[in-house]
Amino acid sequence: MTRVAVLAGGVGAARFLDGLVRVTQPSDVTAIVNVGDDMEWAGLHISPDLDTVTYTLADLVNPETGWGLRGESRRTLERLSELGGPDWFMIGDLDLATHLYRTHRLSQGDPLSAITRDLTARLGLQCVITPVTDDRLRTVVGTDAGELAFQDYFVRGRAADPVHSLRFEGAESARPAPLVTQALEAADVIVIAPSNPFLSIDPLLSVPGVRELVTSNRDNVVAVSPIIGGQAVKGPAADILSSLGHDVSALGVARIYAELASVFILDEEDSSLASMIESETGMRVVVMPTLMKDVETKMALASGTLKAALDVA
Ligand code: GDP
Ligand code: CA
Repeated sequence: MTRVAVLAGGVGAARFLDGLVRVTQPSDVTAIVNVGDDMEWAGLHISPDLDTVTYTLADLVNPETGWGLRGESRRTLERLSELGGPDWFMIGDLDLATHLYRTHRLSQGDPLSAITRDLTARLGLQCVITPVTDDRLRTVVGTDAGELAFQDYFVRGRAADPVHSLRFEGAESARPAPLVTQALEAADVIVIAPSNPFLSIDPLLSVPGVRELVTSNRDNVVAVSPIIGGQAVKGPAADILSSLGHDVSALGVARIYAELASVFILDEEDSSLASMIESETGMRVVVMPTLMKDVETKMALASGTLKAALDVA
């Protein structure tokens, strides 16, 4: 039995988790998911990363986008647009049910973690998916145009604005959700998923206690690089590395993760960086293919990552 806790954002993390639950006992896996992207939209509470992870593991996700439900229509959104309502955030007709359910339960006073637990149980998932916190946490992005709410930067602005700063509103007073501390303390392996270090992983670490739990278990922590050949597979991770003054490479990511993790999973395309990362960061570097193209490559990355973490050199 290997208990695994995964620090998770959205699409990159969801793909990794999809491999992980196929190579280990799903009930031994806890995904601790970012809620910095959450927002209120047309009166509904939207948790994009929780939904991406949940839909992916339930095999309901739209494979083209990596988020949203497969085979979705958008009639409600079209109608909302005709009415002059907010139509810039892509909400599918069936996806809407998740947001109605979540918002309704929140309005009755239920915590987000309990609602997530019930949703994932309904979908038959055996792993634990929990928001990092039940408290309000919001990523605020500093750009040339001033501070933007996360989805204004990411969806409305198509993540095109250079990011100069990031802050996580509400973090100081947020508490880890009930299963978060327990999962991090009990984990044999903690994985920092191949997620955006700034937009997905940093908000998790900003919740008081989480960073400390990770660093105090550094010997059991493995980080998977989201950067391959100096580029993000998807999204603005490379742009943000650059605009915040980091090296735009897996080395730049490794430097950020050095105090958190003892093992770093580097893509084979970047193998020439391995010895530099090892000598500069003190992490043990393990090179393997990290591009998750299909179920086989996801499973291979997940099992390679676990093996690397458990194989204490
Ligand atoms: P988001 O919240 O949907 O943006 O998702 P994440 O933060 O979890 O994932 C985005 C990050 O995942 C990006 O930096 C991508 O480069 C990385 N990513 C996505 N797919 C892959 C993959 O197949 N392999 C690796 N190594 N990284 C990936
Ligand atoms: Ca996200």
